[in-house]
Amino acid sequence: MTPKQAAFVRFADHCATCRTCCAMDGEGANLNLPCAERDRLHEEYRQASRAAARGGDR
Ligand SMILES: [Zn+2]
Repeated sequence: MTPKQAAFVRFADHCATCRTCCAMDGEGANLNLPCAERDRLHEEYRQASRAAARGGDR
């Protein structure tokens, strides 16, 4: 697994298990509540993507 894929898995995994990220309204629509941890993991993924684009993982 590349660092980019690993970062994405951490991000997706967080979104699937975090109560804040999973919060829904009465109709089952995601409320999109702000979550600092999600922001952090997303930033990590962005940086891993940039590194991968530079060929940094090879
Ligand atoms: Zn979250």
